Amino acid sequence: MNGKADPLSKTSLDQFKQYFFDALDVVPLPLLISEGIVSDEISNNNRAHIFFNQAFQQELGYTLDNMPDIYQWFEKAYPDPDYRQEIISQWHQVVHEAQAHGEKTVELPALVTYADGQQRWYAVTAQVDVAPNPDWHIVVFRDIHQLKTSLEETTHASLTDSLTQLANRRGLTDWFAQSAHRTALGTIVLDIDRFKQVNDSLGHIAGDRLLTQIASQLKQFSPPNACCARWGGEEFVIIIPDCTYQHAFQLAKTLCHHVYQEGFLWHATRHQVSLSAGIGFTEAGHHSLDDLVARADQAMYIAKQRGRNQVCGDPP
Ligand code: GH3
Ligand code: MG
Ligand code: MG
Repeated sequence: MNGKADPLSKTSLDQFKQYFFDALDVVPLPLLISEGIVSDEISNNNRAHIFFNQAFQQELGYTLDNMPDIYQWFEKAYPDPDYRQEIISQWHQVVHEAQAHGEKTVELPALVTYADGQQRWYAVTAQVDVAPNPDWHIVVFRDIHQLKTSLEETTHASLTDSLTQLANRRGLTDWFAQSAHRTALGTIVLDIDRFKQVNDSLGHIAGDRLLTQIASQLKQFSPPNACCARWGGEEFVIIIPDCTYQHAFQLAKTLCHHVYQEGFLWHATRHQVSLSAGIGFTEAGHHSLDDLVARADQAMYIAKQRGRNQVCGDPP
């Protein structure tokens, strides 16, 4: 001993806690501390909240009184039961992985609901590896709402045709990669007949308006699980999962018939519009998107050659 006492040795745990919590109160990020509950009726995994810093209380609006434990946190911060379940299983997975790799913290993006009902995206970082005494976990919240929403907007914009709001070619490719495997797929390629004449006689603005009109007609008649895309110019592609060849053919006929019946109203005059369509079909996972579209495209060109305003295909 050199005569100088360790300052902490003179300090009780309660005093240390107060000092520590006061220090965390000036941290501008919302954070909380939880402590293990030895026996708990609700769940073995429940933990009591013992501290919310000021930033946490001010930003999220919760207090230790209305949010006494983690069980309450999951109930209130994720009020939608499906989303809550998804978040809980994501936590289980990342904690499991972190423990396997000897990491001390885990992090998840989560859409957190405030006490007043407002929702914002946070990167939630939690301690997983802690000394048993005191059994505290620090959980820190970083607001990533702006980043997350602008990323979503950019992604959405990159996959969407800005004129018609249908998927663009990239959007269809993305959808195909994610949702189209393992089911039979019907493909319809549709091309507006003599569209250049619309532009030439009525102008580009009318042409654009006709493209958006047809896009919404395609969307209206297609099943909700189908992907409707603008493939380019005045050519559209619809891919329908869990579909037979006959079903795709029938849908294309309905679409062509409807578009023809409606025509295009421009400055109080109704103009004739028609589509030519080609059908492609594949059993589960047998073809790439390019193959499917190429085959439907060939059939569409036969429809053009045979006089337009009709549907052609090559039944399996
Ligand atoms: P076909 O019946 O053989 O398909 O004849 P078409 O006139 O429809 O075909 P063509 O390929 O000759 O012309 C397509 C036109 O579509 C030419 C192009 O200027 C026009 N177009 C492509 N994209 C747009 C667009 O975004 N807006 C407008 N207004 N026109 C477009
Ligand atoms: Mg055309
Ligand atoms: Mg064309």
